[in-house]
Amino acid sequence: MTLPLFQSITLPDGIKYEQPTGLFINNEFVASKNGKTLDSINPETGDVNATIHCADEDDVDIAVAAARTAFKSWRNTTGVERGEYLYKLAAIMEEEKEVLTSLEAWDSGKTKTLNAVGDVQECIDVFKYYAGWADKVQGRVIQNDPKKLAYTIHEPYGVCGHIIPWNYPLLMGVWCLAPALAAGNVSIIKSSEFTPLSLLYLAKLFEKAGFPPGTIAILSGYGKDAGSALAGHMKVDKISFTGSTATGKLIQKAASNNLKAVTLECGGKSPLIVRADAEIDQAVKWAAQGIFINQGQVCTSTSRAYIHESIYDEFVTELVAHVKEEFLQGSVYEDDKMVGPQVSKVQFEKILSYIDIGKKEGARIALGGERNTEKDMSKGFFIKPTIFADVKPDMRIVNEEIFGPVLAVGKFKTDEEALEFANQTEYGLGAAIFTRDIAIAHNMARDIEAGMVWINSSNDSDYHIPFGGVKASGVGRQLGDYGLEHYTQAKAVHVNIGTRL
Ligand code: NAD
Repeated sequence: MTLPLFQSITLPDGIKYEQPTGLFINNEFVASKNGKTLDSINPETGDVNATIHCADEDDVDIAVAAARTAFKSWRNTTGVERGEYLYKLAAIMEEEKEVLTSLEAWDSGKTKTLNAVGDVQECIDVFKYYAGWADKVQGRVIQNDPKKLAYTIHEPYGVCGHIIPWNYPLLMGVWCLAPALAAGNVSIIKSSEFTPLSLLYLAKLFEKAGFPPGTIAILSGYGKDAGSALAGHMKVDKISFTGSTATGKLIQKAASNNLKAVTLECGGKSPLIVRADAEIDQAVKWAAQGIFINQGQVCTSTSRAYIHESIYDEFVTELVAHVKEEFLQGSVYEDDKMVGPQVSKVQFEKILSYIDIGKKEGARIALGGERNTEKDMSKGFFIKPTIFADVKPDMRIVNEEIFGPVLAVGKFKTDEEALEFANQTEYGLGAAIFTRDIAIAHNMARDIEAGMVWINSSNDSDYHIPFGGVKASGVGRQLGDYGLEHYTQAKAVHVNIGTRL
């Protein structure tokens, strides 16, 4: 039996909608050339949400050919026109917010009210933000010699490939698509095999907004097939990847065949330092938010906290009490729930195995430390918010990315020691510092090896501000005008306006 290209779905909150299941190429939903399929699994129940078409290398070839054709005319649109397309898309998303939010929660396991609502709103805002930039992509005039005019044109790369993870299935896509399209590129995006449904729904909205065929392709598929084909394709000009450091290394290698431009947003193990002079209540709130939001599945999660020894016991006690009270776990459709299930069985098992490792390493469980089997949660991938106290610097739970609701808390004596701990891992994504001493805060911000530092907050992301990491956390930046820069390259034009030679 051939798989249909749409499926009627009623979401658990009663919303009915048509879920596209095909690959989105040339503004149409199509079957995969070789008839491959994949199942998207519900994290709360373990059931299949939908069976959809799955791209392989042949489908990537088809999408790239369509994109190359589309680029010929898309590169000649004006910035104002591209901005208008993006504004229109944002307006359509605004009308479709309810479906997008509910669908995102259902397929990824993020809580609807306290999580997915914010994601969808940010997607809309990011499209509007880059719509505003589309007519402001400008080169420069460079004058040295009066007999010569030189100027630069900031040209789009051409065909951009985007490969994204499952933790923010829509938002991670939008962070790439919005600047790429605004700058005049065309895009092919491969969603994560764990959370493909919301991006397919967004494909419908691209079509509704009137984007020309081939400008955007949305492919569901596995990393080893469609992902590696996209990263290694000779006719793709730029690749932006968001995902684990291990995969990021493979992408960089695959992209080297035609020297594609590469942006990598990879893993993290971000530290959170609380000095003795910090406002403890604030530090406790941000520390909890910094690790337990989105079930700890945030690349910038502050997953290891270093607390000054003089306030350590008080901090741990307050943190445990705060998490118990505020970070309630349950169905993604319960409005008061902050913590849902982990995205997949694989991720669920990986986190539980790290909890085991932490116990064996001798860290003390101050909270959680097991799966949640209360009420209906036993069917899904629920892990209780977990706090390990008294951790030591060489423990694996302190150095390796767990990517789940697991916080490792240790103590420090001096600022030098706190910095040494903060910088000890291979990662360098985010870092948080809590102190009332502004001079020390800024000096620490300079000395910490991270792409982003939060002073007296954690995971405070804002699309006007660049996002990205150093060391094994990545190359390049997303968001803000820094993000836009990564989607153009400067062409220098030399004009002889005198009698030189
Ligand atoms: P992952 O690396 O397993 O997969 C990411 C994407 O890469 C998926 O679409 C996957 O299909 C694809 N992929 C896998 N193997 C591939 C290959 N050989 N060639 C091409 N593509 C391939 O990561 P994940 O488990 O989906 O996501 C979790 C990771 O993402 C964490 O490490 C997290 O820190 C990171 N992340 C980073 C950021 C950031 O901005 N720095 C943001 C979100 C997530």
